Amino acid sequence: MMANLLDFDLDGLAVFCERLGEKRYRAVQLFRWIHQKGASSFDDMSDLAKSLREKLKVCAHVKALDVISQHISSDGTIKWLFDVGGGDAVEAVFIPEDDRGTLCISSQAGCAVGCRFCSTGHQGFSRNLRTGEIVAQLWFAEHFLRKHLHRDDRVISNVVMMGMGEPLQNYSELVPALRVMLDDHGYGLSRRRVTVSTSGVVPMMDRLAQDCPVALAVSLHAPNDTLRDNLVPLNRKYPIAELMDACNRYLAHAPRDFITFEYCMLDGVNDQAEHARELVSLVRQHSSGGVWCKFNLIPFNPFPESGLIRSSPEQVQAFARILSEAGIVTTIRKTRGDDIDAACGQLAGDVKDRTGVSDRIVRQRTFMLKPVATINKEVKET
Ligand code: SAH
Ligand code: SF4
Repeated sequence: MMANLLDFDLDGLAVFCERLGEKRYRAVQLFRWIHQKGASSFDDMSDLAKSLREKLKVCAHVKALDVISQHISSDGTIKWLFDVGGGDAVEAVFIPEDDRGTLCISSQAGCAVGCRFCSTGHQGFSRNLRTGEIVAQLWFAEHFLRKHLHRDDRVISNVVMMGMGEPLQNYSELVPALRVMLDDHGYGLSRRRVTVSTSGVVPMMDRLAQDCPVALAVSLHAPNDTLRDNLVPLNRKYPIAELMDACNRYLAHAPRDFITFEYCMLDGVNDQAEHARELVSLVRQHSSGGVWCKFNLIPFNPFPESGLIRSSPEQVQAFARILSEAGIVTTIRKTRGDDIDAACGQLAGDVKDRTGVSDRIVRQRTFMLKPVATINKEVKET
């Protein structure tokens, strides 16, 4: 079987090269060709010995994902739908800003968590992406964008794991992918500029803190267990108090000194003044132990099956004011790419026809994608 070299972090590639009788520095060269120069053909890798190139050709390839569609917005936002086989597809979105370029990528086809307000959750779980399929979204986007924007330097400065899927339920494939992003011979991204977003898989938050601490966003969406149990079913397993403790433990290792709490604003469900006040006391209670956090309010992007409604802008503002006045940095996510439906919750994600009639990609459903970077001017780093 051919090995897909996108599946390896640098250590993995070194082991692979060793098996071929090659030294580690050859793996470094190969890794740089693939990730820094975007090469996929061994013949292009001119400083690799011809003998190595011939060896590689018989046992390895750089297997990217097929692009099903690409949409470019007038504001520069670009979204791609990638075929991952078997009738599944996943999406990635590039969000350009003056001082950064953010890529939002997927970790799974579908999602098993089943949050009520999330279209991906409503689709159900199809499968975990492999490391190479996670990395391929970045590999493709970065090298496409350099050509498209006529740039020699790096275009993508930030990655957010906020596409389809729960990244911490695909932990073993996620971590090597993060390492490729962070590696100086790979994409060389700062830990502070790679964000994992989770619905709260507590044990895996602890493992991530040890294995590969990057910036963390936690999808909170409710100030108490009764409400959160209903919106984010995983809360029944890992309730809010445990989640807050896990955030605290994570902060001891995190590259940033705060956790971002994401909060999807649902009309009449979780957007009342009492909910905001309850959040303030939740966070205060835990901030005695040092939980520093910022809130990112996401106006809900509706989809038909949800039965939920987006909070009004006034309601979102009023909610934000209560948090801000209590001293919590709060931002409201803006949408980008409206003309190509790339805004939160409007992405046409995967898809498999779950009726089982066909496994072709028969239907485009919306799923949520969240241009986090658009948002938070205050959190901007240098
Ligand atoms: N599974 C991870 C990451 C992917 S979802 C997580 O839940 O954190 C990324 C973000 O988009 C989450 O905060 C999620 O709650 C939010 N989201 C999902 N569906 C949405 C919708 N329809 N409108 C607005 N935000 C949504
Ligand atoms: Fe899964 Fe995140 Fe959607 Fe919840 S919000 S169903 S965890 S992708």
